Parts: sequence; C-alpha cells; structure tokens
Amino acid sequence: MTVPETLYMVIPCYNEEEVLRETARQLKEKYESLISRNLISAKSRIVFVNDGSQDKTWQIIQELHSERPEFFSGITLSHNSGHQNAVLAGLMTIRDICDVSITMDADLQDDINAVDEMLERYYEGNQVVYGVRSARKTDTFFKKFTAEAFYKFMKVMGADVVYNHADFRLMSRRVLQELAEFREVNLFLRGMIPLIGFKSCSVYYERRERLAGESKYPLRKMISFAVNGVTSFSTKPLKLITALGFIMSIISIVAFIWSFAVKVTGLSVLGWSSTICSIWLIGGLQLFCLGIIGEYVGKIYAEVKGRPRFIVEDFLNEVGAEFINEENEK
Ligand code: UDP
Ligand code: MG
Repeated sequence: MTVPETLYMVIPCYNEEEVLRETARQLKEKYESLISRNLISAKSRIVFVNDGSQDKTWQIIQELHSERPEFFSGITLSHNSGHQNAVLAGLMTIRDICDVSITMDADLQDDINAVDEMLERYYEGNQVVYGVRSARKTDTFFKKFTAEAFYKFMKVMGADVVYNHADFRLMSRRVLQELAEFREVNLFLRGMIPLIGFKSCSVYYERRERLAGESKYPLRKMISFAVNGVTSFSTKPLKLITALGFIMSIISIVAFIWSFAVKVTGLSVLGWSSTICSIWLIGGLQLFCLGIIGEYVGKIYAEVKGRPRFIVEDFLNEVGAEFINEENEK
C-alpha cells in the first residue's frame, strides 16, 4: 500500500439540481482537507452519476467538471435506472482507477465528516466500512417507523443486512473487483456486500435532514425495495409454503380422526366425514406439493444468479527450484 491512496467517491444523482452545487462545495472542501492531511492522494475524484435526470442535474455536473476537473468527474446514464443501478454503474466504471471508493447520496443526509473515520478504518486494514446511522432525530416518525420495520422485516425473512446501514459505505478496490463477479440483475447492494466478506467494520453517524429537494423514495418505492431485497436474497418465503403444507397435512390427520369419531358416535349426517377429510387432505397435499416445487424453484434461482461460490482472500504458496533444493539440502 502506498499511502496516500486514491479515493473515488460515487454520488448517484436523480433530479438533484437544488442540492448539487452545495454538495459539490462541501465535498470539495472535504477533499482539500483530506489531501492536505495526506489521507488521500491528489488523484482522488468525486464522481457524480446522473441517473437520467429530467432537470439540470447533468448540466451542473458538466459545469463542475469543466470548472474543477481535478476534483469533479461525471457519468451519465442513458435513462433513469434507479438508485442501486446508478451506484453500481459508478463503482464499476471506477473500479480499475481507484484504490478505495465511498458511495454516498447526493442530498448530504449522510455526514461527510464520517469519511475521515472511514478512511482511518480502511488504513487499519478493513476492506469494507459500513456507515451506520446512530440516530434518526430528524426523520419524521413515519419515515423512522417504516425504515426500522424494513430492517426487521428483512431479518425475519432471512435476508441479512447491516441494521440501519444504507448505501453510505467504503469499499476497497479489491472488494469492487469481487463485486463485479456478482452478475445479478435485481440489485440489492446492502445484501450483496456482506456476502463478499473480508474484514469489515462500522462507523456511526447521525443522519440529517435532506438539504433541499424531495425524497425520491416514497413509501411505494420503499415497499418494492423491501420485496426486492427479500426475493433477491432469501428463499424463505418458499420454505414457508412447505412448512404450511406440512402443518396442513398434520391437521388433516387430526381432522380425519375427529370426523371418524363423530361418524362412529353417529352424530354426523351422511357424507359429512368424507367431505371434511378430503377438504383438509387435499388442501394440505396441494400446499405441500407447491412447497416441493418451491424448493426446486429456489435452487434454480440460486443457479441462475451464478454468484461466486467462494472468494479466495489469500494463497500462501512458495514456488521456485532454488527454494525446493534448499529445503532438500537441509
Ligand atoms: N437516486 C437515483 N435514482 C433514483 C432515485 C434516487 O440515483 O431513481 C439517488 C438520489 O439522487 C439520491 C439517492 O439516490 O442521491 C437517495 O435518494 P433519496 O435521498 O431521495 O432517498 P431517501 O434518502 O429519502 O431514502
Ligand atoms: Mg436522502
């Protein structure tokens, strides 16, 4: 490692004309301070990714780049592809030219002062540093409630994510190279990065209010994001069907015994027992069979994703004839 290393920050921007200039100003100040303290090299850049905005966002990015190319770079996507895709597009574009990357939203809700600590943790040997919100004082009750319910729901459904961590995150170049091996189309970066592994840690910060403009994540998008997260990471819903089918089958046996008892005691009308038994049995069997199909669908889904099965972190191996001879002479 040749310190200082080159840091590329990736900032996805969708209709952010109101905040962009202020964000750029604050980030430039931060970079100047980091460069003067020798924490990052002068080759470091701030990369804005324009995610098909309809306003002046791209125009502002172009201006920033031509005014201060030593700080600002820009990428523009051909159409609006969503936050996760915009972040990935940025990361994949810079993965061969940076040593380390940080992703952050354009609205400065994440504390840019946490960047210093993230870099310290990185220089201590962490490959991934998660920015975790310690408080949500400024969020409305509704936003706080839905956001926390989101993390709990994800956990219950078997998709493990870092609690209260969004996409404010430092990743080393090595991690970006491994991330490139994940070929899935339904992106859920928060779930994917922990799968990559390597030494990681968290840095805590207070989340602030949006600087200007509106949230691009209304409840509707949050719900579809959560559903995408679960269905991209967990086959638990499919397993639940199998479990339900199993329970129904057990109940059908109980119902069978019960209806038989009722029939023997002569309290039932003609045809009742056979109807009751078949309803439960068929219901149980159907769910059980669906569950079995679900298990196979789950396997197909895992195969189709083609995720790397393992990532080798290090290989300790010494080759060379002299070395082998030396060993033999001893
Ligand atoms: N964003 C994007 N594409 C989209 C929606 C959002 O690139 O389709 C960006 C947006 O410009 C911002 C970040 O993603 O930088 C997070 O969005 P926002 O702040 O609106 O979400 P919230 O913080 O309210 O959850
Ligand atoms: Mg925001």
